Amino acid sequence: MSARATSTLRAVLRTRVAARSYATSVTGYGREVEGFVGAVGNTPLIRLNRLSEETGCNILAKAEFMSPGGSVKDRAALYLVKDAEAQGLIRPGGTVVEGTAGNTGIGLAHVCRSKGYQCVIYMPDTQSQEKIDLLRMLGADVRPVPAVAFDNPQNYNHQAKRYAESLDNAVWTNQFDNTANREAHILTTGPEIWEQTDGGKLDAFICATGTGGTLAGVTRYLTEKSNGRVQGWLADPPGSVLYHLVENGKIAREGNGSITEGIGQGRVTNNLKGDISLVTGAIHVPDSASINMVYRLLHEEGIYVGASSALNVWAASELARKMGKGKTIVTILCDGAYRYQARLFSRVWLESKGLLQHIPEHLQKYVVL
Ligand code: PMP
Repeated sequence: MSARATSTLRAVLRTRVAARSYATSVTGYGREVEGFVGAVGNTPLIRLNRLSEETGCNILAKAEFMSPGGSVKDRAALYLVKDAEAQGLIRPGGTVVEGTAGNTGIGLAHVCRSKGYQCVIYMPDTQSQEKIDLLRMLGADVRPVPAVAFDNPQNYNHQAKRYAESLDNAVWTNQFDNTANREAHILTTGPEIWEQTDGGKLDAFICATGTGGTLAGVTRYLTEKSNGRVQGWLADPPGSVLYHLVENGKIAREGNGSITEGIGQGRVTNNLKGDISLVTGAIHVPDSASINMVYRLLHEEGIYVGASSALNVWAASELARKMGKGKTIVTILCDGAYRYQARLFSRVWLESKGLLQHIPEHLQKYVVL
């Protein structure tokens, strides 16, 4: 090779190396991390191409299903445990107890294994078998209990609290009302979105709430950082009271429950208190729209996510239509569909919920179970 060709090749390689180190610094995959907890967060921000074209906006979705425990709740789990440690509530070998629809439990089970704690999970018996199995495979002691309302003393959260109090060296991490959950999103998810949109080039953030940690934390961070320019919006499933709270200032249930697991809320948790007033508006999402989007994301984008992610994306596209062309809207892909596949991809289950008819003919080839 001539001297000139060698120097050209070197220049090309230098440019490629520079481009690669830029890309990896944005997603955070570029450096070694310390154990499971070091790998939490720093997820990619994916542009949803078809929906962006369709709406004339940039619809961007944070791929939390790529977190090492597989969901957005890894972040909360890690900060809840860090908070318990910082406050001296748990010592080596201790037990973490939580009430959860599953994903926080899975995040906690991973964190507990990696830090040497025991993990006990109380969950409503309405949740998918896949989540229960995974928790058990991660060594958690899973206790499914009847799904009763929060004001019933047998609610899974109260049972978790009582059990933790009965043990020595144990903590109830209390994801709904412990604001270490929201803090995780103020300190990580919000700043990542800011950086990944080239220093805050976005107009709105929208997502659903379970505990409210993600919505409140990200909205707080983006609102403060942009001096109120970036709006926070709530995406809400049937059965939740928050849609009316945000839109009309009144707590009132809208609809009768939903197929979306892990979201929808009947009260203002501590994680939402204060910050729910920062939220600009709410979009109500029927199950028919969520299930349709599960299949569209799979077919059009090759993205395999659960119903809460699909609900978020549908709400983001509705918000795009409301805000008008040219806007950038960010949402969350909370977890993968693996956790729900026996339901979401089962013809019998979909028919039993009256949802098969909302999956267009050409997408029904994905209904394989
Ligand atoms: N999606 C899924 C699948 C979840 O499990 C949860 C949390 N339960 C959420 C969304 C909502 O997250 P947050 O608790 O931060 O409101």
